Order: sequence, then C-alpha cells, then structure tokens
Amino acid sequence: MRYQAREVGVDGRVRLVLEGALTARDRVGVQDFVLLENFNSEAAFIENLRRRFTENLIYTYMGSVLVSVNPYKDLEIYSPQHMERYRGVSYYEISPHIYALSDNTYRAMKTSRRDQCILISGESGAGKTEASKKILLYYAVSCPAHQRMASLRDCLLQSTPVLEAFGNAKTLRNDNSSRFGKYMDIQFDFRGVPVGAHILNYLLEKSRVVHQNHGERNYHVFYQLLEGGTEEQLLHLHLDRNPQKYLYLVKGNCPRVSSMNDKNGWKALVKALSVIGFTEGEVQVGNPLTRTHLLGVDGAALTEALTHKKLTANGEEMISPLTFEQAGAARDALAQAVYGRTFTWLVEKINQSLALDGSSVIGLLDIYGFEVFQHNSFEQFCINYCSEKLQQLFIELTLRSEQEEYETEGVAWEPVQYFDNKVICDLIEEKHKGIISILDEECVRPGEACDLSFLEKLEDTLGGHAHFVTHKLANGKTRRVLGREEFRLLHYAGEVNYTVTGHSSSVTWCPGALQAATQFKNSLTKLMETLMSKEPSYVRCIKPNDAKQPGRFDEVLVRHQVKYLGLMENLRVRRAGFAYRRHFEAFLQRYKPLCPETWPVWQGELAEGVSTLVQYLGYKPEEYKMGRYLVLSEYPVPEEIGVIQAAW
Ligand code: ATP
Ligand code: MG
Repeated sequence: MRYQAREVGVDGRVRLVLEGALTARDRVGVQDFVLLENFNSEAAFIENLRRRFTENLIYTYMGSVLVSVNPYKDLEIYSPQHMERYRGVSYYEISPHIYALSDNTYRAMKTSRRDQCILISGESGAGKTEASKKILLYYAVSCPAHQRMASLRDCLLQSTPVLEAFGNAKTLRNDNSSRFGKYMDIQFDFRGVPVGAHILNYLLEKSRVVHQNHGERNYHVFYQLLEGGTEEQLLHLHLDRNPQKYLYLVKGNCPRVSSMNDKNGWKALVKALSVIGFTEGEVQVGNPLTRTHLLGVDGAALTEALTHKKLTANGEEMISPLTFEQAGAARDALAQAVYGRTFTWLVEKINQSLALDGSSVIGLLDIYGFEVFQHNSFEQFCINYCSEKLQQLFIELTLRSEQEEYETEGVAWEPVQYFDNKVICDLIEEKHKGIISILDEECVRPGEACDLSFLEKLEDTLGGHAHFVTHKLANGKTRRVLGREEFRLLHYAGEVNYTVTGHSSSVTWCPGALQAATQFKNSLTKLMETLMSKEPSYVRCIKPNDAKQPGRFDEVLVRHQVKYLGLMENLRVRRAGFAYRRHFEAFLQRYKPLCPETWPVWQGELAEGVSTLVQYLGYKPEEYKMGRYLVLSEYPVPEEIGVIQAAW
C-alpha cells in the first residue's frame, strides 16, 4: 500500500493519508463528481471540471459515466504503457481514463456475456471522434488476438482515415468535423478476441458537396487529392492543383487549414484504401477520361438531362429548357447524389473487409451532437432530432438501470426530477401529427407542394404547442424575431430557428426531403432498438472554448453544455440513493488491509467480511446498505481518491 498514515477524521471516519494528499485534492478536484460535497451545486461541478482541466486531468467520472473535456493539445496519456496500466484494473484504482472505460466495458462483456455499447455525445468539436478512436485503438491493440486477426486489426484501424477523408470537413466549430453519424459494432469471439466489425452510417451532410459557408471547406478528400495526388493522377483526372479554381471548393474561401496536412492526408488515405483491400482501379481512374466518362455516362445525354426537363401536358411529353438557376440546381443535385452514393459504397466495401460475426458485441456510437447555425436547414433538423432521441435514450436507460439496481438490491428509490424530452421527440416523429408526418404528406400532395405551404400546415397542426413557435402569434399579430419562412423548435438543448425555404444548392424541405426524413426516422428507431438491447456506458464530451485553443476554459460555454447534457440531473440520480456500489468480493479485496480481522485473508462468507470491515471503518448503519451482491454506501471508503491521485 502506498499510504503513509492512517487517521480518524473529525467525522469519525478512518482516513488514509499520504503526504500532500488533501492539498492535492484541493488542487485537482475530485475524480468522481459523486464525491463532490455540494453535489447540487452547478458552480461546484464546473469548478471541479475547471480545476482538473487546468491540471491536464481531462477525465472525470460520474459513477460509470465518463466526462471528458477536450484539451486541444496532445497529452501523453495514450501510449501502450498507459493501455497496459488500465488493463484489468477497477475504475477507482487509478486516475479516470477513456482506457479505463474501454477496459471495463470489455470485461463486462466477457463476464456477463451481455452485449455492450458505448455512447459518445457532446457538441461539435467536443472530442467525440477522438474518444471513439482511442477506444477502437484500445481494443485493437490490447485485446488478445491471434495471427489471423492481424489483418482485421489493420482494417479496423484503417477504416477511420477513409471515412474521415470522405465524411469529415473543416467547419467553423471543428477543423475535422464529422458530417455523418457512425455506429460501429465490434464483434468478439467467446475468448474475447476481436474477430470482425460492422459500420452503420447515418445521414451524410450532402449539401456541403456543393456549398460551404464562409470559412468552411468541402470534404477533406478533395483537397487531399489536389495537394497529394501525383502530376500524372491529376492529369488523368483533368484536375488543376489549385482548389480555388473549383466552384465546389471555393465558396468557403478556405483552401487550407493550419491544423491539417492535406498531402499527408492523401498518403494516409491511399495506404488505408489498400490495406482495406480496395483495388487499384477502385482507388484511381487509370485512363485519361473526360468528366462524363468518369461517371460512365454519355456526355451529350448528361448535358441534355441537366439543362432540360420533361413535362407531360395533355398526355403528350414535352421537353423544355431549364433556366440557368434550374440547371445549376440539377447539376448540384446530381453531384450530391453521386457523392452520397460513393460514401455508401465506401462503407459497404469497408464492411466487407471487416465482416465476421462473433459471439458478443461492443457497439460504439459517434454521432453528430446538437447543432445551431445562423441558418438551419433540413440537415440541422435531422441532426438535432437525432440528438433528442439520444437524450431520450440516456434518460430512459440511466433512470431505468438505476431503478433496476435498487430493486435488485432491495433498496428504496426516490425519483429525481428531470426534464423529459419525450414531448419534443413526439412533436417531431408522432404519426399523423408530428413534423415528419406533415412533411411527408405535404411532399406527396398533388400539385406544386412547396416549402411555404408545408410551414402553413405545420402552423395549423402544431400552433400552440409548447415547443413549436412561428412568426404568428395567437392574437393574429406577428412575432418579429422570426421570419415568415421560419419555425422555431425549443429543443432540450436550446432554441433553434429552422428555415423552410431551401436555397437551390441545399436540401430543401419540400419536396427535396421526401422520404429522407422518414428514412432517417426509421433508421434512428432501429438504432435506438439496437442500443436498448445492450448495456450502455457513456462518454460525455465537453468543449472548453470556441477558439479551439488549449488552456482556455470558458465557463459560460461549459455551463451550457453541463446543462443540456443533463449532467447535474444525472449526478442527482446517482446520489439519490447510495452513490457507491461495490461487489462484495471487490470491496473486500480492496479494503481488507484496513482491518485486522479481514487482513490478510478473510475466510468466512463474503457478505460477513464486508459487514465486519464496514463496521470497523466506523460507518453508521444508515450510511450503508448490504444488498444481495453489492455493498452500497453514501460515500466511498476513506479518502482513497485524493490519496491515490496524489500518489499518481
Ligand atoms: P464533430 O461533432 O464536429 O465531429 P467531435 O466531437 O467529433 O466533433 P473531434 O473531432 O473528436 O470532435 O475533436 C476536435 C478536435 O479537438 C480534434 O481534431 C483534436 O484536435 C482535439 N481533441 C479532441 N479530443 C482530444 C484529446 N483527447 N486529446 C487531444 N486533442 C483532442
Ligand atoms: Mg466527430
């Protein structure tokens, strides 16, 4: 043991003190929010996060939830030695870490034989993708493997650069923002060896292919190709190295990003594609071709299709030319569709390289967080809807599992007040009267369905709903803060104004969204079912500042995230009963040196040993409960946390 002294505190508890431990605790905060003395205080919560962030301690637990603050700098805490340190170690024994969560999830899968999932949430730039990469790396590197699996491991790790090249882009919020949602199942065999994987992708932001806001870029792959492709390749593809020459790359006026090296990105992409097993022909087009040949279509036919439309009048077909704007929109729609399909094809190819079923699964979800821009369109609507669904899942699973545990252990449960966002989920997805249903009906209505009539229908059906607002007031007057083409949703995470009129280049609501919304809704429903069938762990990511800079902790920004991630409510739920639970065996193993009767070996029943130990430590009967398998207490045993951190 590393302790230097044992003392009985003023409260009668035994404390193990290592020199400097208490001051260390003051400095670095507590490693589990459950230990906060004032657990109802948001200020204390944020102060704890800030202290730890200042000390480069970016991870903090809240029971089994891992809260992570983006450091915006490389911390040397992800080496193979660190992986080794976390393997097989229980949560509270060493400093909180994403590897600890990965390892605990893995062990839970092996021992309980229940499928697990890790849900990573947080706003754009909070560190979700980085967290998911660390988890993937942990499983690829530290799980047992046999020779045959080496190629799977490589494919698993190499899938990331491919999907990032095609699915990530620089946005104002994040230089490497994922513009698609990703759920990955990692399959393990009965020995715990990773044997396969499967990726599901969700709603790629296609409007980015043809339009970028100022300061943003198109998908990385375009710049990587122009920067890293050989002269020969570019010549073959009729490409110029300067991205500013392309309509689709020039809109954001941001060809370079200081934190990105497009040349290396290209090299990494080419390597990753070959590891995954893409053939040369699939990676690059070998012959000098015209642009239309690249699509494999006849040039004249394509030009005709992009500049004319077919009308049927009085049973006769007529071809009429499109206006300049209309033809531009047709071209954009084609580009988006081609890109979208390419992305789906890539995911399919990756899945083929990873396909093999195991006996148990760890699912990993890295999906877009809540998003508010100045101009929010159909895509933001889908993203924020997804965020609502995940919040709903979080509420259900956290409360349900807590409740179940109290019930199994026979401990009384006191419900905690929280905002249930089901009302917003219903507003969006309810049959017949939800926004998606109305959108669908409006899109298939005969005649010229349009965005504004869609908005009118929304007003008729949903006007007066507590979470839906338009410019119309109940007294017939107008609300000036909202435009005539806008509606506002009061999401659990904040207000968002959505514009229903799509500009030519982005996905319009109506009829552009025909089926897209329903499809998205169905795929989310399926995802929720998948997640519900598994045992969840959570990583809640927090973004410390908007400047993407290390060392800056913007309290207002953090407070907002703490609020909408529901962290305070989550903490109250944890604290509502007994915050600490340990299995009898683990508890005895860990604390037996503290009591002469249990040290060095306790020979009797586990439960009896735990009782002896707890009583020796001075716990009053109301401060702990013996469940069937667990000992539950209000506090952890002595000041272990501060002590261990100081020793670290
Ligand atoms: P989005 O929703 O836009 O995809 P995200 O939550 O996935 O955002 P990341 O791409 O994971 O955000 O993180 C943004 C950037 O923050 C990273 O590119 C990296 O520079 C930095 N970052 C995040 N997590 C860490 C970490 N643990 N250590 C060092 N840097 C990090
Ligand atoms: Mg991401």
